[in-house]
Amino acid sequence: MKDSDPVAVCEAGVADETLGTPAHPLLRALVLLGAPGAGKGTQAREVAKIYGVPHLSTGDMFREHVAKGTELGLRAKPIMGSGKLVPDEIVLGMVEERVARKDCAAGFVLDGFPRTLPQAERLEEILSLLPLRRSLAVNLTVDEEEVVRRIVSRRTCKSCGAIYSTAGNMPRVDGKCDVCGGQVILRPDDREDVVRQRLATYHEQTRPVVDFYRRRGQLLELDGSKEIAAVQRDLLELLERLQ
Ligand code: AMP
Repeated sequence: MKDSDPVAVCEAGVADETLGTPAHPLLRALVLLGAPGAGKGTQAREVAKIYGVPHLSTGDMFREHVAKGTELGLRAKPIMGSGKLVPDEIVLGMVEERVARKDCAAGFVLDGFPRTLPQAERLEEILSLLPLRRSLAVNLTVDEEEVVRRIVSRRTCKSCGAIYSTAGNMPRVDGKCDVCGGQVILRPDDREDVVRQRLATYHEQTRPVVDFYRRRGQLLELDGSKEIAAVQRDLLELLERLQ
């Protein structure tokens, strides 16, 4: 089995499922990994929609708390603005509460979580208690300078999180989200200086999560440098092959 064959890498962990015929095509936690700007949010949103399961983005959850001015939001805001990570216990409490809800029973897509080894270990502990297939992590790989270019041109809807780009995919009406009519902005942490810090944080704290899933035989590598639609096709094809 070679590392370069994503399905082979994955089958080591997934082919031994004993759950019988799945009641739902996903029925697992799908974990999207990759550097900031690798396309996790865009792909997670689409895959979740296609499979009819929740898209859980910890970044979106924090931004919602910040917008509402909750206590958690007040703690998270300066950390997010500096490109660092919110402490594990805060993130874990939020995620544990979310995945315990009924709508996660047929599986869910995680985006931006886990981002540290303790988060990954705790997630797998929680998942082992749920009647789901083994989780699957997909690592979207993209060249670092391409990632910076993508992020600084990214624009995000403040209300629903829809993603746009000044490089050729802007809302039909200037500054107004096509999906929900919300305000489309440059996220404060998408400025280049913060992006560089986020990438440093990624290498230091999140790369080990990729190795964690690889060691467990639960990792697929996917070329994230292609067009959005092409990455989506590849991702769906991989998921279909695992059904
Ligand atoms: P994102 O939208 O996923 O890029 O997240 C934006 C920011 O939210 C990150 O730079 C972190 O400050 C914070 N954040 C999101 N998810 C996590 C996580 N799993 N652990 C710690 N901090 C997180």
